[in-house]
Amino acid sequence: MNSFTYARAIDVADAVRQGGEANSKYLGGGTNLVDLMRETLERPSSLVDVTGLSSAITEREDGSILIGAAAKNTAVAEHIAVRTRYPLVARAILAGASGQIRNMATVGGNLLQRTRCTYFYDEDGSRCNKRNPRQGCDAIEGFNRIHAILGASPACVATHPSDMCVAFAALEALVHVTSSEGVRTIAFGDLHLLPGDHPEVETTLKPGELITAVELPPLAFSQHSVYRKVRDRASYAFALVSVAAAMELDNGTVRDVRLALGGVAHKPWRALKLEASLKGQPATAESFLAAAEEELADAKPLAHNKFKVELAKRTIVAVLAELAGDIS
Ligand SMILES: Cc1cc2nc3c(=O)[nH]c(=O)nc-3n(C[C@H](O)[C@H](O)[C@H](O)COP(=O)(O)OP(=O)(O)OC[C@H]3O[C@@H](n4cnc5c(N)ncnc54)[C@H](O)[C@@H]3O)c2cc1C
Ligand code: SF4
Repeated sequence: MNSFTYARAIDVADAVRQGGEANSKYLGGGTNLVDLMRETLERPSSLVDVTGLSSAITEREDGSILIGAAAKNTAVAEHIAVRTRYPLVARAILAGASGQIRNMATVGGNLLQRTRCTYFYDEDGSRCNKRNPRQGCDAIEGFNRIHAILGASPACVATHPSDMCVAFAALEALVHVTSSEGVRTIAFGDLHLLPGDHPEVETTLKPGELITAVELPPLAFSQHSVYRKVRDRASYAFALVSVAAAMELDNGTVRDVRLALGGVAHKPWRALKLEASLKGQPATAESFLAAAEEELADAKPLAHNKFKVELAKRTIVAVLAELAGDIS
Protein backbone atom coordinates (compact mmCIF):
# COMPACT_ATOMS: atom_id res chain seq x y z
CA MET A 1 0.00 0.00 0.00
CA ASN A 2 1.23 3.52 -0.81
CA SER A 3 0.52 5.99 1.92
CA PHE A 4 -0.21 9.64 1.07
CA THR A 5 -1.40 12.78 2.80
CA TYR A 6 -4.58 14.66 1.89
CA ALA A 7 -5.23 18.38 2.29
CA ARG A 8 -7.93 20.66 0.98
CA ALA A 9 -6.62 23.90 -0.53
CA ILE A 10 -8.35 27.00 0.79
CA ASP A 11 -7.26 29.26 -2.08
CA VAL A 12 -4.97 29.30 -5.12
CA ALA A 13 -1.92 30.44 -3.13
CA ASP A 14 -2.44 27.63 -0.63
CA ALA A 15 -2.90 25.08 -3.45
CA VAL A 16 0.25 26.20 -5.24
CA ARG A 17 2.27 26.17 -2.03
CA GLN A 18 1.24 22.60 -1.24
CA GLY A 19 1.17 21.40 -4.86
CA GLY A 20 4.72 22.62 -5.40
CA GLU A 21 6.06 19.93 -3.10
CA ALA A 22 7.79 16.99 -4.76
CA ASN A 23 5.50 14.11 -5.77
CA SER A 24 2.37 16.05 -4.93
CA LYS A 25 -0.74 15.84 -7.13
CA TYR A 26 -3.75 18.09 -7.41
CA LEU A 27 -7.02 16.27 -6.84
CA GLY A 28 -10.13 17.25 -8.82
CA GLY A 29 -13.13 14.93 -8.80
CA GLY A 30 -10.74 11.99 -8.56
CA THR A 31 -12.55 10.06 -11.31
CA ASN A 32 -9.28 9.37 -13.10
CA LEU A 33 -6.56 9.97 -10.52
CA VAL A 34 -8.07 7.76 -7.83
CA ASP A 35 -8.50 4.90 -10.33
CA LEU A 36 -4.84 5.28 -11.33
CA MET A 37 -3.80 5.28 -7.67
CA ARG A 38 -5.77 2.10 -7.05
CA GLU A 39 -3.88 0.49 -9.93
CA THR A 40 -0.63 1.95 -8.47
CA LEU A 41 0.05 3.66 -11.82
CA GLU A 42 0.10 6.94 -9.91
CA ARG A 43 1.82 7.01 -6.52
CA PRO A 44 1.64 10.58 -5.16
CA SER A 45 2.87 11.15 -1.63
CA SER A 46 0.38 14.00 -1.14
CA LEU A 47 -2.95 14.99 -2.64
CA VAL A 48 -4.01 18.62 -2.70
CA ASP A 49 -7.78 18.79 -3.17
CA VAL A 50 -8.58 21.76 -5.43
CA THR A 51 -12.33 21.24 -5.75
CA GLY A 52 -12.96 24.19 -3.38
CA LEU A 53 -11.28 26.66 -5.75
CA SER A 54 -13.14 28.69 -8.37
CA SER A 55 -15.89 26.86 -10.20
CA ALA A 56 -17.48 30.07 -11.51
CA ILE A 57 -18.59 30.30 -15.13
CA THR A 58 -18.44 33.96 -16.07
CA GLU A 59 -19.49 35.80 -19.22
CA ARG A 60 -17.04 38.65 -19.66
CA GLU A 61 -17.39 42.02 -21.37
CA ASP A 62 -15.04 41.08 -24.21
CA GLY A 63 -17.42 38.23 -25.12
CA SER A 64 -15.30 35.44 -23.69
CA ILE A 65 -16.45 32.94 -21.08
CA LEU A 66 -14.13 32.12 -18.18
CA ILE A 67 -14.66 28.70 -16.62
CA GLY A 68 -13.10 28.05 -13.21
CA ALA A 69 -11.04 24.85 -13.26
CA ALA A 70 -13.09 23.37 -10.42
CA ALA A 71 -16.33 23.69 -12.41
CA LYS A 72 -17.97 20.31 -12.76
CA ASN A 73 -18.38 18.96 -16.28
CA THR A 74 -22.16 18.87 -15.77
CA ALA A 75 -22.28 22.53 -14.71
CA VAL A 76 -20.40 23.58 -17.86
CA ALA A 77 -22.65 21.51 -20.14
CA GLU A 78 -25.77 22.92 -18.49
CA HIS A 79 -24.71 26.57 -18.45
CA ILE A 80 -27.01 28.59 -20.66
CA ALA A 81 -24.23 30.70 -22.22
CA VAL A 82 -22.19 27.59 -23.04
CA ARG A 83 -25.21 25.79 -24.50
CA THR A 84 -26.30 28.69 -26.68
CA ARG A 85 -22.96 30.23 -27.66
CA TYR A 86 -20.71 27.15 -27.70
CA PRO A 87 -22.99 24.17 -28.36
CA LEU A 88 -20.02 22.03 -29.42
CA VAL A 89 -18.67 22.26 -25.86
CA ALA A 90 -21.97 21.23 -24.25
CA ARG A 91 -22.43 18.38 -26.73
CA ALA A 92 -18.85 17.16 -26.29
CA ILE A 93 -19.22 17.01 -22.51
CA LEU A 94 -22.58 15.22 -22.69
CA ALA A 95 -21.05 12.64 -25.06
CA GLY A 96 -18.54 11.67 -22.37
CA ALA A 97 -18.60 9.27 -19.42
CA SER A 98 -21.87 9.03 -17.45
CA GLY A 99 -24.07 11.50 -15.59
CA GLN A 100 -22.56 10.50 -12.23
CA ILE A 101 -18.98 10.89 -13.47
CA ARG A 102 -19.73 14.24 -15.12
CA ASN A 103 -21.19 15.41 -11.78
CA MET A 104 -17.86 14.66 -10.09
CA ALA A 105 -15.33 15.47 -12.82
CA THR A 106 -13.82 18.95 -13.01
CA VAL A 107 -12.63 20.93 -16.01
CA GLY A 108 -9.02 20.94 -14.75
CA GLY A 109 -9.06 17.17 -14.27
CA ASN A 110 -10.66 16.52 -17.64
CA LEU A 111 -7.78 18.30 -19.39
CA LEU A 112 -5.21 16.11 -17.63
CA GLN A 113 -6.94 12.73 -17.71
CA ARG A 114 -4.64 9.99 -18.95
CA THR A 115 -4.85 7.68 -21.93
CA ARG A 116 -7.10 4.63 -22.04
CA CYS A 117 -4.49 2.48 -23.81
CA THR A 118 -5.07 -0.96 -22.32
CA TYR A 119 -1.33 -1.76 -22.30
CA PHE A 120 -0.72 1.33 -20.17
CA TYR A 121 -2.97 -0.17 -17.47
CA ASP A 122 -1.47 -3.67 -17.69
CA GLU A 123 1.48 -2.99 -15.43
CA ASP A 124 2.38 -6.63 -14.77
CA GLY A 125 1.97 -8.00 -18.28
CA SER A 126 2.88 -5.31 -20.86
CA ARG A 127 5.70 -3.02 -21.83
CA CYS A 128 4.79 0.67 -21.96
CA ASN A 129 7.08 3.66 -22.58
CA LYS A 130 4.60 6.03 -21.04
CA ARG A 131 4.60 4.09 -17.77
CA ASN A 132 8.26 3.06 -17.83
CA PRO A 133 10.34 5.24 -20.19
CA ARG A 134 12.46 3.27 -22.70
CA GLN A 135 10.78 -0.03 -21.78
CA GLY A 136 9.11 -0.51 -25.18
CA CYS A 137 5.51 -0.32 -26.40
CA ASP A 138 3.42 -3.47 -26.69
CA ALA A 139 0.57 -1.65 -28.41
CA ILE A 140 2.51 -1.12 -31.63
CA GLU A 141 2.60 -4.81 -32.48
CA GLY A 142 -0.40 -5.67 -30.31
CA PHE A 143 -4.15 -5.10 -30.54
CA ASN A 144 -4.16 -1.45 -31.55
CA ARG A 145 -7.72 -0.88 -32.72
CA ILE A 146 -8.27 2.15 -30.44
CA HIS A 147 -4.88 3.75 -31.04
CA ALA A 148 -3.58 6.76 -32.97
CA ILE A 149 -3.46 7.28 -36.73
CA LEU A 150 -1.97 10.80 -36.68
CA GLY A 151 1.09 12.26 -34.97
CA ALA A 152 2.20 9.03 -33.26
CA SER A 153 5.83 7.98 -32.80
CA PRO A 154 7.79 4.72 -32.59
CA ALA A 155 7.65 5.23 -28.80
CA CYS A 156 3.88 5.56 -28.33
CA VAL A 157 0.65 5.28 -30.33
CA ALA A 158 -1.81 6.17 -27.56
CA THR A 159 -4.71 8.59 -27.99
CA HIS A 160 -5.99 11.36 -25.74
CA PRO A 161 -9.37 10.29 -24.35
CA SER A 162 -11.14 13.58 -23.64
CA ASP A 163 -14.21 14.76 -25.54
CA MET A 164 -14.34 18.24 -24.00
CA CYS A 165 -10.74 18.91 -25.02
CA VAL A 166 -11.59 18.36 -28.70
CA ALA A 167 -14.12 21.19 -28.55
CA PHE A 168 -11.63 23.39 -26.67
CA ALA A 169 -9.01 22.73 -29.36
CA ALA A 170 -11.39 23.79 -32.14
CA LEU A 171 -12.25 26.98 -30.23
CA GLU A 172 -8.62 27.89 -29.50
CA ALA A 173 -9.39 28.03 -25.79
CA LEU A 174 -6.85 29.47 -23.38
CA VAL A 175 -5.64 27.67 -20.26
CA HIS A 176 -4.84 29.85 -17.24
CA VAL A 177 -2.25 28.40 -14.88
CA THR A 178 -0.56 29.51 -11.67
CA SER A 179 2.55 28.36 -9.85
CA SER A 180 4.92 29.78 -7.25
CA GLU A 181 6.62 31.53 -10.20
CA GLY A 182 3.49 33.43 -11.18
CA VAL A 183 0.65 33.15 -13.66
CA ARG A 184 0.67 32.40 -17.37
CA THR A 185 -1.74 31.54 -20.16
CA ILE A 186 -1.26 28.59 -22.49
CA ALA A 187 -2.90 28.35 -25.92
CA PHE A 188 -4.94 25.15 -25.86
CA GLY A 189 -3.07 23.73 -28.85
CA ASP A 190 0.18 24.08 -26.90
CA LEU A 191 -1.01 22.35 -23.72
CA HIS A 192 -0.85 18.70 -24.82
CA LEU A 193 2.16 17.15 -26.53
CA LEU A 194 2.62 14.57 -29.25
CA PRO A 195 4.54 11.54 -27.92
CA GLY A 196 7.87 11.92 -29.75
CA ASP A 197 10.64 10.18 -27.82
CA HIS A 198 9.06 11.04 -24.46
CA PRO A 199 5.45 9.87 -24.22
CA GLU A 200 5.73 10.06 -20.44
CA VAL A 201 5.69 13.87 -20.81
CA GLU A 202 2.13 14.65 -21.81
CA THR A 203 1.76 18.40 -21.38
CA THR A 204 3.76 21.62 -21.29
CA LEU A 205 2.77 22.26 -17.67
CA LYS A 206 5.71 22.75 -15.34
CA PRO A 207 5.90 20.79 -12.08
CA GLY A 208 3.44 22.18 -9.55
CA GLU A 209 1.51 24.33 -12.05
CA LEU A 210 -2.17 24.56 -11.18
CA ILE A 211 -4.83 25.03 -13.84
CA THR A 212 -7.08 27.78 -12.51
CA ALA A 213 -9.42 28.40 -15.46
CA VAL A 214 -10.18 27.77 -19.10
CA GLU A 215 -11.18 30.72 -21.26
CA LEU A 216 -13.41 30.35 -24.30
CA PRO A 217 -12.57 33.31 -26.54
CA PRO A 218 -15.31 35.04 -28.50
CA LEU A 219 -15.85 33.50 -31.94
CA ALA A 220 -18.47 35.06 -34.19
CA PHE A 221 -19.78 31.70 -35.47
CA SER A 222 -19.30 29.52 -32.38
CA GLN A 223 -23.06 29.15 -31.94
CA HIS A 224 -23.10 27.38 -35.30
CA SER A 225 -21.19 24.35 -34.07
CA VAL A 226 -21.57 20.66 -33.29
CA TYR A 227 -19.73 17.71 -31.78
CA ARG A 228 -20.14 14.18 -33.07
CA LYS A 229 -18.63 11.12 -31.39
CA VAL A 230 -18.40 7.68 -32.99
CA ARG A 231 -17.88 4.87 -30.49
CA ASP A 232 -18.49 1.19 -29.98
CA ARG A 233 -21.45 1.70 -27.61
CA ALA A 234 -23.97 4.52 -27.37
CA SER A 235 -22.76 5.49 -23.90
CA TYR A 236 -19.90 4.92 -21.49
CA ALA A 237 -17.34 4.48 -24.26
CA PHE A 238 -14.43 6.57 -25.47
CA ALA A 239 -14.31 7.96 -29.00
CA LEU A 240 -13.02 5.88 -31.88
CA VAL A 241 -13.24 9.12 -33.81
CA SER A 242 -14.89 12.39 -32.87
CA VAL A 243 -15.28 15.72 -34.60
CA ALA A 244 -15.83 19.17 -33.10
CA ALA A 245 -16.58 21.82 -35.69
CA ALA A 246 -17.90 25.33 -36.17
CA MET A 247 -18.55 26.81 -39.58
CA GLU A 248 -19.54 30.17 -41.02
CA LEU A 249 -21.20 30.25 -44.43
CA ASP A 250 -21.64 33.12 -46.83
CA ASN A 251 -24.14 32.45 -49.58
CA GLY A 252 -23.17 28.79 -49.99
CA THR A 253 -19.44 29.41 -49.54
CA VAL A 254 -17.36 28.49 -46.50
CA ARG A 255 -16.25 31.83 -45.08
CA ASP A 256 -14.58 30.32 -41.99
CA VAL A 257 -14.32 26.97 -40.27
CA ARG A 258 -12.81 25.45 -37.12
CA LEU A 259 -12.44 21.70 -36.77
CA ALA A 260 -10.69 19.32 -34.40
CA LEU A 261 -10.59 15.54 -34.18
CA GLY A 262 -10.64 13.25 -31.14
CA GLY A 263 -9.67 9.59 -30.83
CA VAL A 264 -6.99 9.85 -33.51
CA ALA A 265 -3.87 11.24 -31.81
CA HIS A 266 -1.96 11.68 -28.55
CA LYS A 267 -3.59 15.12 -28.27
CA PRO A 268 -6.79 16.69 -29.57
CA TRP A 269 -6.00 17.07 -33.27
CA ARG A 270 -6.67 20.49 -34.77
CA ALA A 271 -7.35 20.03 -38.48
CA LEU A 272 -5.42 23.05 -39.73
CA LYS A 273 -4.88 21.68 -43.25
CA LEU A 274 -8.59 21.03 -43.64
CA GLU A 275 -9.45 24.50 -42.37
CA ALA A 276 -7.02 26.21 -44.75
CA SER A 277 -8.20 24.27 -47.78
CA LEU A 278 -11.92 24.68 -47.06
CA LYS A 279 -12.03 28.44 -46.60
CA GLY A 280 -13.51 30.07 -49.72
CA GLN A 281 -14.75 26.76 -51.14
CA PRO A 282 -18.38 25.95 -51.90
CA ALA A 283 -20.15 24.25 -48.99
CA THR A 284 -20.65 20.95 -50.79
CA ALA A 285 -20.03 17.32 -49.92
CA GLU A 286 -17.26 17.26 -52.57
CA SER A 287 -15.37 20.16 -50.94
CA PHE A 288 -15.79 18.64 -47.48
CA LEU A 289 -14.44 15.28 -48.65
CA ALA A 290 -11.50 16.86 -50.49
CA ALA A 291 -10.53 18.81 -47.36
CA ALA A 292 -10.94 15.72 -45.15
CA GLU A 293 -8.71 13.74 -47.49
CA GLU A 294 -6.06 16.45 -47.32
CA GLU A 295 -6.14 16.36 -43.51
CA LEU A 296 -5.90 12.56 -43.37
CA ALA A 297 -3.24 12.27 -46.08
CA ASP A 298 -0.51 11.85 -43.45
CA ALA A 299 -2.42 9.23 -41.45
CA LYS A 300 -0.34 6.18 -40.54
CA PRO A 301 -2.78 3.54 -39.37
CA LEU A 302 -1.66 0.44 -37.47
CA ALA A 303 -2.62 -3.18 -38.10
CA HIS A 304 -6.06 -2.95 -36.45
CA ASN A 305 -7.16 0.64 -36.89
CA LYS A 306 -7.13 1.27 -40.66
CA PHE A 307 -10.89 1.77 -40.41
CA LYS A 308 -10.29 4.99 -38.45
CA VAL A 309 -8.98 6.79 -41.54
CA GLU A 310 -12.19 6.28 -43.49
CA LEU A 311 -14.28 6.79 -40.35
CA ALA A 312 -12.61 10.14 -39.70
CA LYS A 313 -13.23 11.31 -43.27
CA ARG A 314 -16.87 10.27 -43.20
CA THR A 315 -17.49 11.81 -39.80
CA ILE A 316 -15.92 15.09 -40.93
CA VAL A 317 -18.12 15.17 -44.05
CA ALA A 318 -21.25 14.31 -42.03
CA VAL A 319 -20.56 17.01 -39.45
CA LEU A 320 -19.84 19.70 -42.02
CA ALA A 321 -22.93 18.69 -44.00
CA GLU A 322 -24.99 19.04 -40.81
CA LEU A 323 -23.59 22.53 -40.29
CA ALA A 324 -24.18 23.45 -43.92
CA GLY A 325 -27.82 22.42 -43.75
CA ASP A 326 -29.41 21.08 -46.87
CA ILE A 327 -26.62 20.43 -49.36
CA SER A 328 -26.54 18.20 -52.36
C1 LIG B 1 -16.01 4.89 -16.62
C2 LIG B 1 -15.47 6.18 -17.15
C3 LIG B 1 -15.84 6.58 -18.43
C4 LIG B 1 -15.33 7.78 -18.94
N1 LIG B 1 -15.70 8.17 -20.20
C5 LIG B 1 -15.23 9.34 -20.70
C6 LIG B 1 -15.56 9.78 -22.00
O1 LIG B 1 -16.30 9.12 -22.73
N2 LIG B 1 -15.06 10.98 -22.43
C7 LIG B 1 -14.25 11.74 -21.65
O2 LIG B 1 -13.84 12.81 -22.08
N3 LIG B 1 -13.89 11.34 -20.43
C8 LIG B 1 -14.36 10.17 -19.94
N4 LIG B 1 -13.99 9.76 -18.71
C9 LIG B 1 -12.93 10.48 -18.00
C10 LIG B 1 -13.45 11.59 -17.16
O3 LIG B 1 -13.93 12.63 -17.97
C11 LIG B 1 -12.24 12.06 -16.36
O4 LIG B 1 -11.94 11.05 -15.42
C12 LIG B 1 -12.51 13.36 -15.64
O5 LIG B 1 -12.81 14.40 -16.55
C13 LIG B 1 -11.32 13.76 -14.81
O6 LIG B 1 -11.69 14.86 -14.00
P1 LIG B 1 -11.47 14.82 -12.43
O7 LIG B 1 -11.82 16.15 -11.92
O8 LIG B 1 -12.14 13.65 -11.80
O9 LIG B 1 -9.88 14.64 -12.42
P2 LIG B 1 -8.97 13.87 -11.37
O10 LIG B 1 -9.13 12.41 -11.54
O11 LIG B 1 -9.15 14.44 -10.01
O12 LIG B 1 -7.53 14.35 -11.91
C14 LIG B 1 -7.06 13.99 -13.18
C15 LIG B 1 -5.69 14.62 -13.36
O13 LIG B 1 -5.80 16.04 -13.40
C16 LIG B 1 -4.96 16.64 -12.41
N5 LIG B 1 -5.67 17.84 -11.99
C17 LIG B 1 -6.94 17.94 -11.55
N6 LIG B 1 -7.28 19.22 -11.38
C18 LIG B 1 -6.18 19.95 -11.69
C19 LIG B 1 -5.91 21.36 -11.72
N7 LIG B 1 -6.82 22.27 -11.41
N8 LIG B 1 -4.67 21.76 -12.10
C20 LIG B 1 -3.71 20.85 -12.44
N9 LIG B 1 -3.92 19.52 -12.42
C21 LIG B 1 -5.15 19.08 -12.08
C22 LIG B 1 -4.79 15.57 -11.36
O14 LIG B 1 -3.60 15.75 -10.60
C23 LIG B 1 -4.72 14.32 -12.22
O15 LIG B 1 -3.44 14.17 -12.74
C24 LIG B 1 -14.47 8.58 -18.16
C25 LIG B 1 -14.12 8.18 -16.86
C26 LIG B 1 -14.60 6.99 -16.36
C27 LIG B 1 -14.20 6.56 -14.98
S1 SF4 C 1 0.76 3.17 -26.90
FE1 SF4 C 1 1.76 4.51 -25.40
S2 SF4 C 1 0.52 4.18 -23.55
FE2 SF4 C 1 0.11 2.44 -24.92
S3 SF4 C 1 1.59 0.84 -24.41
FE3 SF4 C 1 2.50 2.05 -26.02
S4 SF4 C 1 3.73 3.56 -24.90
FE4 SF4 C 1 2.26 2.74 -23.45
